[in-house]
Amino acid sequence: MSAQSELLQKIDAHIEQNLAYWIGQLARLCAQPSVSAQNQGIEACAELVATMLREQGYTANILPSAGYPVVVGEGRGTAADKTLLFYLHYDVQPPDPLELWESDPYILTEQDGVLYARGVSDDKGHIICRLAALAAVKDTLGELPCGIKFIIEGEEEIGSPNMPAFVEKHQDLLAADACIWEFGGVDYDGRPRQALGMRGICYVELSVQSLNRDAHSGLGGSIFPNAAWRLTWALSTLKDRHERILIPGFYENVLPPSPRDLELLARLPEETAQLKEAYGLGEFLLHLEGGLALQRTAVFEPTCTICGLTAGYQGIGAKTVLPAKASAKVDFRLVPNQTPDEIVAKLRAHLDAQGLHDVNVTLLGGGRPAKVDPDDPFVKIANETAVAVYGCDPIVEPIIGGSGPNYPFIHTLGLPLVSAGVGYPGSNVHAPNENMTIKNFLQGTKHTARIIERFGRG
Ligand SMILES: [Zn+2]
Repeated sequence: MSAQSELLQKIDAHIEQNLAYWIGQLARLCAQPSVSAQNQGIEACAELVATMLREQGYTANILPSAGYPVVVGEGRGTAADKTLLFYLHYDVQPPDPLELWESDPYILTEQDGVLYARGVSDDKGHIICRLAALAAVKDTLGELPCGIKFIIEGEEEIGSPNMPAFVEKHQDLLAADACIWEFGGVDYDGRPRQALGMRGICYVELSVQSLNRDAHSGLGGSIFPNAAWRLTWALSTLKDRHERILIPGFYENVLPPSPRDLELLARLPEETAQLKEAYGLGEFLLHLEGGLALQRTAVFEPTCTICGLTAGYQGIGAKTVLPAKASAKVDFRLVPNQTPDEIVAKLRAHLDAQGLHDVNVTLLGGGRPAKVDPDDPFVKIANETAVAVYGCDPIVEPIIGGSGPNYPFIHTLGLPLVSAGVGYPGSNVHAPNENMTIKNFLQGTKHTARIIERFGRG
């Protein structure tokens, strides 16, 4: 056996031997509520995360942002000129609805090799995965092979509104050569997934108030403006029945996928059957049946989604009322190089041009799309090291449909960014009974450790 593979075996063994300790640390972290949406336990969780970093030998500081505090940590390694940055988040989604949990969301519970708790996967499981991987590499090599930095924020679950400004402000503190993102994991068949980019998002609320109070529909139906109709007309101008978004200039900055992106998309496994079954879906939009056209549309097309819609009476039976107010939540998923500010401005101009001046637009959250070069050497490291752990090549997604604050890391800090981790499609993240399998924890941790070791070796 070569010295190198012996070393990797020792790292793996370290991770397995210390499993109980790390599950204990995960239980400790999950026991601390940290619900950003409700400002519950945030400060205490930031303190706990900083304490846990210090216990592992890192420096850790809690820095203010315009919102919740950010934990920034650092550790020195042999290669002083190479630094690996870990982006993570300590906040979680609200555990509600509580009655659907089979165990207390704040008490880590194991059943048949599966660990249950709020945050056990998203993202506290990943925080522990990184610490376990680093400890295994450090103990086996005697020292960390490269500089390590952590940025662990508390607002990811509410859209990371302050991450771009925080990264901009602390560029020197966060300077690194590569970044491991907050998530990663396997697909339905246990194959690792490598996500190289994320769509952006522009989340708005459209609201109309046409009267100061609801009116009798017999009194006002013919002569009063109706907020629900005003809103419905506004929504109907946003998209046609062929899924084309009608806001003038909406597509003008859309960058089509590169030939390399299309090549990667063409290799993605078909998940049409799983999606149809999981959602009771009859057929996909635009008569798409699968293959490259579906894969491309799913992630490289921007969207306009009505997420929620409310107006007037919605209780049982009939109530003849003319609603004074109506509102809708709408999200636009953006692709490179669209920006949320640009979309809001175009939306406003469009509504005005339609005579819908009374439809207010409020930006609730936004983030820019960003993706990493699939042929970056760091991406290669992440992909190659996955093979030994998972026994197969990773599925490489040039961009995924969801959104996250990767833009400032890729563009402001200039880092290649890869995913690695403990997730799987049954994790129930954001839902009751969030869970992580011990198998996925071990695999994600071994993979993370191999990336660290390989990156440090150069
Ligand atoms: Zn999440």
